[in-house]
Amino acid sequence: MLELDIQIPATEQRTYKIRIGNGLLASLLETVSVQFPERAQFMVTDQNVAKAGHLDRLVAGRKVPTFVIDPAGEQSKHILTVFAIVEAMEKAQLGRDTVLLALGGGTVGDIGAFAASIFKRGVAVVQIPTTTLAQADSAIGGKTGVDSSISKNAYGTFWHPAAVCIDVDTLKTLDEREFKVGLVESIKHAVIADAGYFDFLEGHLDAILLREPSVLATMAERNCRIKGRVVEQDPQEKNLRRILNYGHTIGHAVEAASEYRLLHGEAVAIGMVGAGLIEIEMGLGSQDRLDRITALLKRLGVPTRIPPTITAEQMLHLLGHDKKAVNRWPRFVLTEGLGQVHCIHGQWAVDVGREVVARILSRLY
Ligand code: NAD
Repeated sequence: MLELDIQIPATEQRTYKIRIGNGLLASLLETVSVQFPERAQFMVTDQNVAKAGHLDRLVAGRKVPTFVIDPAGEQSKHILTVFAIVEAMEKAQLGRDTVLLALGGGTVGDIGAFAASIFKRGVAVVQIPTTTLAQADSAIGGKTGVDSSISKNAYGTFWHPAAVCIDVDTLKTLDEREFKVGLVESIKHAVIADAGYFDFLEGHLDAILLREPSVLATMAERNCRIKGRVVEQDPQEKNLRRILNYGHTIGHAVEAASEYRLLHGEAVAIGMVGAGLIEIEMGLGSQDRLDRITALLKRLGVPTRIPPTITAEQMLHLLGHDKKAVNRWPRFVLTEGLGQVHCIHGQWAVDVGREVVARILSRLY
């Protein structure tokens, strides 16, 4: 088992431990009882994670009040689910001395941590991520939230976990497409922060796809180190943390244009290739580097081109409506070498002209 400490400055929960290993679920409740003595436990999970047997493995016959999100996934990621959870916690007569355990993918983590952040003005949350995306990304970083009828993650809080437990064994039951899309965030981490990690992913992709536990644990550790380092420096997304949006600007537009038929990681893969083309156009990147990144994404089996059903006009329109747009045009996170994000005057997201992006989009089909 590996243990990492993440130091979060300027928040109530100053540091938290991330435990990474294989088969950790069976003893996790004991560990939580030792780490948070005298605290009542409350579990949030979803229907699929429970059906896959992970809830039983974690609870192991003990009586822990549990809320099972049903249906699983994004369709339940709204404020009414949060209300239902906090109401269930109140009915179970829980107080501030509660620790909420969020067992599941990014949706369970985002919803569960949001509920924890508002229940009795905030109770501790332990993240137990069970998808490749959640283990690499959403469980570490303290962003919680739910969607509104108008936009994604419209309501939320910053609420850092009190602990994170990554049991790579849980990934065994994950659907193949979900498994692969979550890995795109790992490739993104390597591209923005760690060339050595990129070599590792190239060298071990076959073992990763075979879900070999020791390789998955090493991958989880490297992801946590990268994301942890960024979050430690910018816990509330004021600047540096924007580098985690690499590939996401074009990615969000293509995801929305596909009417969410493309999964988030698939859209981000296309967005990373788009960012690579912009880098070449602006003299920051090389074709060789982009070829390496594209080849790895292709081996993973995710798309690297915009589907022909989406027009460049649609893309430009959606880019103009990006959440982070200033004067109806977004800034872009770009790299200037593997593991090296381009920074101008302390800004990690930079201006790229509309005409440059229009040209790039025409090459992204
Ligand atoms: P998800 O939580 O919806 O999980 C995907 C599917 O896999 C669901 O049907 C789920 O029930 C099932 N599942 C989960 N674990 C399983 C397992 N071990 N075995 C079998 N089935 C399993 O999706 P996700 O991709 O993990 O997360 C996506 C969400 O994460 C989005 O809502 C996104 O906004 C959010 N997110 C948050 C952050 C953050 O910083 N908070 C970062 C990235 C993404």
